[in-house]
Amino acid sequence: MNEEFHYKGGELYCEGVPVQQIAMKTGTPVYVYSQNHFLKQHAAIVDAFHEVDPLVCYSIKANSNLGLLRAMALAGSGFDAVSKGEVYRALRAGAEPGKIVFAGVGKTPDEIDYALEQGILMFNVESEAELEAISRVAAKRKMEAPVALRINPDVDPKTHKYISTGKRENKFGIDLDRAEACAKRIKELKNLRLRGLHLHIGSQITYADRHAEAIDKVTPFIKSLKQQDFPLEFLNVGGGYGISYHIGEGLPIADFAAQMAPRIKALGLKMLCEPGRFISGNGGILLTQVVYDKPSGDKDFLIVDAAMNDLLRPSIYQAYHLAWPVKSPGLPDGGALSDDSPIDEAGPGDGITYDVVGPVCESGDYFALGRNLPKMNEGELLAIFSCGAYGMAMASNYNTRGRPAEVIVDGNQYWVAHDRETIEDVIRGERLTPRETFSAKA
Ligand SMILES: *Cc1c(COP(=O)(O)O)cnc(C)c1O
Repeated sequence: MNEEFHYKGGELYCEGVPVQQIAMKTGTPVYVYSQNHFLKQHAAIVDAFHEVDPLVCYSIKANSNLGLLRAMALAGSGFDAVSKGEVYRALRAGAEPGKIVFAGVGKTPDEIDYALEQGILMFNVESEAELEAISRVAAKRKMEAPVALRINPDVDPKTHKYISTGKRENKFGIDLDRAEACAKRIKELKNLRLRGLHLHIGSQITYADRHAEAIDKVTPFIKSLKQQDFPLEFLNVGGGYGISYHIGEGLPIADFAAQMAPRIKALGLKMLCEPGRFISGNGGILLTQVVYDKPSGDKDFLIVDAAMNDLLRPSIYQAYHLAWPVKSPGLPDGGALSDDSPIDEAGPGDGITYDVVGPVCESGDYFALGRNLPKMNEGELLAIFSCGAYGMAMASNYNTRGRPAEVIVDGNQYWVAHDRETIEDVIRGERLTPRETFSAKA
């Protein structure tokens, strides 16, 4: 499933490059991406949904590296943006404006105006108030704004509560019982055109029937809109397709498609989807170096040079990431996260139980707790897997740490797609003394 990161001769490779060579070139911590993984996942979705003429809009927020976005754009991908900045990024990377969708509960008039000016495919609208706002901005521009209503179908995605978005208590989308009134309002507002409906029920979904249930929930509404002669073209089924963090956890996209595609086809709509994690998650690893081994009671702290500011997911979602030494003598060859991975997640018989932690001053600064791993020594490299999604995208400068470098591998070659941040980069814009002082008004 994830041959892009594989062990060969007891050493970890990304495609054709031993990752240790990358770490020696760039230093650590460093994110390493397999470009081929991104393209392969995109192609797998296009293939699985071919009968409903899919437009894949890669969800930029999962991993917004410009070099990767460019590769995606060249492969024909569209993009799902959730801010003006992401629309800008997509365009900078060469995206066709007509393949960009714009979601988010709090789009400002400035963001709406920018997206209209660029000619995006449509806005995913999350409230009545937003409909009014888009209409006002479009009227000023004497334009018709293309919109999709984001429906909250009240479906349980059975995932972590922070990444569930399609239940009634979540802030996202419009309740079905308000949706008819919204459609009516769109008809009244001459500057809006309803082009589709949008669903996005959550992230890291590993049950193949959740999206299908969401489609079933909105089907009566879609039929009603068609009877009222709304020119519906698209059903945007959102993202959320789960991946393997544990070996064998993710589902093939065909399992989702088998349930979704016939339903979309029956509705006579073109399919749009917004995968983020599915495209990027297993396309990246975080490479980090052991700084100290600190025995403590019946376990060891393995203190590494990456920290929660570089990869936040374990700290805020208690997320599991597979971690394994880059050099693992005697390990059989094979994909690190493939179904027949050579790695035993329970650890080796003669392993050591580690808490793998970073140097940041927080007890929540960890990557793995109580993890049995082969014994590691200072200076050795550890690979943290499945870091391509919501890794660098959520990185910060907490503890005045520059964010890691990002490297893209393509076959036997690699390039630095984002320089490591220097301390000067981090403090840019800060001042020791005022440039200008303002007085409180009396
Ligand atoms: C975050 C997000 C996605 C992508 O979710 P994944 O779980 O990464 O696939 C898609 N659509 C919307 C509207 C989002 O907010």
